[in-house]
Amino acid sequence: MYYIFFTGTAGSGKTTLVKEFQQYLLDLEMDTAVINMDPAVERVPYTPDFDVRDYVDAIEVMERYGLGPNSSLVVSIDLLLTKATDIKREIGDIEANYVLVDTPGQVELFAYRDTGRLFSSLLVGESKSVNVFLLDSYLAREARSYVSLLLLSSSVRFKLGMPQINVLSKVDLLNQRELHQLLEWGEGEGLVDSLGVIDDYSYELVKTLIESLERPPIPLSANKRDGFDELYAEVQRIVASGEDFA
Ligand code: GDP
Ligand code: MG
Repeated sequence: MYYIFFTGTAGSGKTTLVKEFQQYLLDLEMDTAVINMDPAVERVPYTPDFDVRDYVDAIEVMERYGLGPNSSLVVSIDLLLTKATDIKREIGDIEANYVLVDTPGQVELFAYRDTGRLFSSLLVGESKSVNVFLLDSYLAREARSYVSLLLLSSSVRFKLGMPQINVLSKVDLLNQRELHQLLEWGEGEGLVDSLGVIDDYSYELVKTLIESLERPPIPLSANKRDGFDELYAEVQRIVASGEDFA
């Protein structure tokens, strides 16, 4: 059993990708299951095999504790951790080659808080896992946003300690020129030039960031199911290489 997490900023396309990638794996006759880890989502386009909303309702938490949407989500995940034993039992019944985990839009859970990591390791147990981080290509068209998203991706990679695959989501929204540029940046070319005038600090930061990238992000469209073969190949490469949840 192998866990594939999908993280990224709100609206980057996690839920849609989970639905389409599950279908893709099913078409390859892979047994898959889906976990919804977002307590605040109203509806999901797939049938979850485990749903945190069965344990905690972010809207109810919001009303009961008089919280805003963001803090209610953070508290919801804390509450989930108090129900770890029950959750563990229910998840233990899942049988599949791949378990896809759809996560909440508040990526701070995975970048800055312990709960994202704690809950992930609760789910994963002794199994292997990988995190697919979605860089919203529509935002990433702009060079500074691209760099910022890469930094966020690095934060999540570092905090979660899981092997990670960066993907550029929703590339069907880009024109040829924009896509071409993003692919070049992914290869570490032309990014500094595209940033225009930057200070020394930013220059050094971007240089280090480019060097630290293991691989260029995989361009992907869930709507068109483009890039799925590449994503799956990368998942398999990581499974085979035995990189582990640190
Ligand atoms: P999440 O918040 O990360 O779970 O993102 P969603 O999957 O809910 O998607 C946010 C919005 O982006 C929705 O309106 C989706 O229809 C749209 N979207 C998701 N994937 C794609 C894609 O590959 N191409 C396009 N054009 N839109 C997409
Ligand atoms: Mg979602």
